Amino acid sequence: MSAGVCRFFSELLRRNAQLGMRGLTNYYLSCCVNSLLQSLAATWELAGILEKWATAGLRADSRNVPLQLKKVLAAMRSDPPQPCPHRDFLNCLDRNSIHLNIQHDADEVFLSILNLIQQQMEDRDLALEIQNLYKISMETQLQCLECNSVQSRSTYLLSLPLHIKEDHNSLEGCMASFFEHQELRGANSCFCSQCGTRKPSRRGVKLNSLPQILCIQLKRFRNMRGSTRKMDCEVTFPETFDFSESLREVFSANFSQDDCRYSLYAVVVHCGCAVSGHYTAFVRHKDNKQWYYADDSHVQQTSWEDVQTSYGGRYRGTAYMLMYRRDSKEPTST
Ligand SMILES: [Zn+2]
Repeated sequence: MSAGVCRFFSELLRRNAQLGMRGLTNYYLSCCVNSLLQSLAATWELAGILEKWATAGLRADSRNVPLQLKKVLAAMRSDPPQPCPHRDFLNCLDRNSIHLNIQHDADEVFLSILNLIQQQMEDRDLALEIQNLYKISMETQLQCLECNSVQSRSTYLLSLPLHIKEDHNSLEGCMASFFEHQELRGANSCFCSQCGTRKPSRRGVKLNSLPQILCIQLKRFRNMRGSTRKMDCEVTFPETFDFSESLREVFSANFSQDDCRYSLYAVVVHCGCAVSGHYTAFVRHKDNKQWYYADDSHVQQTSWEDVQTSYGGRYRGTAYMLMYRRDSKEPTST
């Protein structure tokens, strides 16, 4: 690297550090993981749980994803800034089949990281604490349309996959559709234990509880006749929203939380088409509450108006993953 290029990078690192956010160099096509890391670094609850994990006696394991995640999140905050704090983490993912030099799907990588944390973290209590941070608990009800008997099943998701329509969408509308009743007939009929055979059924999903961190995937990639197409259509999403105001009807009878207000703090953006693209991220700073835009090593302060340009419908990057945080309750005086 020439002296001029070196000066350029150290100046960039210094400037990003002053902004309170570190850029991450594109290391063997790592923009997808870079954008996820920016979002995970903004999820300070996650770093907080990993910090509680006593790893001092652990053998330095280059294959252990939670250990390397703990290290990279700390390295992204270190002073002075490191030129490539995420290299070991990327190599660790590569050893766990999330390979370098491949363009990945951000939601798939996100769920793989959460899954690998569950598999590889020896402290089970802390591993479950991480799972609970994201856990969306639901109840699926299947009603036989012939004998009316109902079968209920509890399930959970770590990220809410939302189907989007060809035209205009709103996040609240997409969420309402996710929980809408669906009639399953013909080949989609379900087995009814009362009737002892497959019968037309009605499926409904209700929320049992909402997590601290609500991760949402806008399903922009659709498989059509063997090839994947990206849907650039507009999906509006609010900076803050309250489930109990707009989506109360999706709560199950067991739902007992009274705090359902959420604020957006990270958006993973996909630019380009289904076969070749680039990932960037908007993240909201913990302390100064400002929005920042991270495009690999380049970080700049931005605004909520800029974040809204990722709604889609234009020749720009489109929001692909949204991360909302439940607003903390106002401390009550006793
Ligand atoms: Zn039946």
